[in-house]
Amino acid sequence: MNSVAIGIDIGGTNTVLGIVDINGLIYESCIIKTQKHNLFEEYMAEIFDIIDSWRLKYLDKKIIGVGIGAPNGSIVTACIESAANLKWTGKLEIVKLIEDRFGFPCILTNDANAATIGEMVFGGAKNFKDFVLITIGTGLGSGIVCNGELLYGHDGFAGEFGHIIVDHNGRECGCGRKGCLETYVSASGIKRTAFELLAYSNKETVLREYSYQDLSSKIVCQAAIDGDYIALKVFEKTAEILGKSLANLIAITSPQAIFLYGGIAKSGDLLLNPLKQYVDLYCLSNFKGKCELKFSDLDGNIAVLGAASLILKSC
Ligand SMILES: [Zn+2]
Repeated sequence: MNSVAIGIDIGGTNTVLGIVDINGLIYESCIIKTQKHNLFEEYMAEIFDIIDSWRLKYLDKKIIGVGIGAPNGSIVTACIESAANLKWTGKLEIVKLIEDRFGFPCILTNDANAATIGEMVFGGAKNFKDFVLITIGTGLGSGIVCNGELLYGHDGFAGEFGHIIVDHNGRECGCGRKGCLETYVSASGIKRTAFELLAYSNKETVLREYSYQDLSSKIVCQAAIDGDYIALKVFEKTAEILGKSLANLIAITSPQAIFLYGGIAKSGDLLLNPLKQYVDLYCLSNFKGKCELKFSDLDGNIAVLGAASLILKSC
């Protein structure tokens, strides 16, 4: 009987579930809105329904477990703890809930860590022992692999690159502090930068036609592709802040490559070209030119593959 695992990627906006085999083949996947349910129990009930339907549909496959990538998910405590991008507070015992309900083993880690394992097992990092994956979406996350092992730290929370402080008097962050990297480099960070630049400039730009509510990083991206001055400045500023931070990260971990993953990847060279220049500008001389910078080639499936790999890699 073919062994499969269920991978669940919990993001601030969407939760993606997939049923995956050992070769990374996704038999089926579905997306639910993470913030739809006010109660965590109701959200879990929707996940249980999906798993139940797959158990009935894939009777010829052996489901060997559930892997979960979630914001602030700890492999050590098996709980999601006070995630800034989720509405449910406190310690969410998601592993226990799934194991009690189905009897499958369940492994939880940070969403970015799960994506990093996906890149390592199925993606462009297959042959790398030292690399970093940066996920840029609602927030900014990272997974750091040193000598072939994911860096978890003693409590399972290592790799919170999105919450390094880049400006002590900077923007308010969902974590309760000020000036974290993800307040600048994320979908909402891009939007905040656009409005900041609009406030300081008289330049004509299509971005002025949008309210704060309606403007999205996707619109800023399209405007930049169309040559809009302010939109291009937004990417330039985003690239500078991320580039400086990555140069610091390179000095600490000396990775062979840094992979970028998430909605921001759709901006392509718009972000990547200035980013490469800023990384090079701010890098310590002995690290210059040694670290490859690229987008993940696993695209939208990497997080689910990574979550499922938490179970599959032990096969
Ligand atoms: Zn923060």
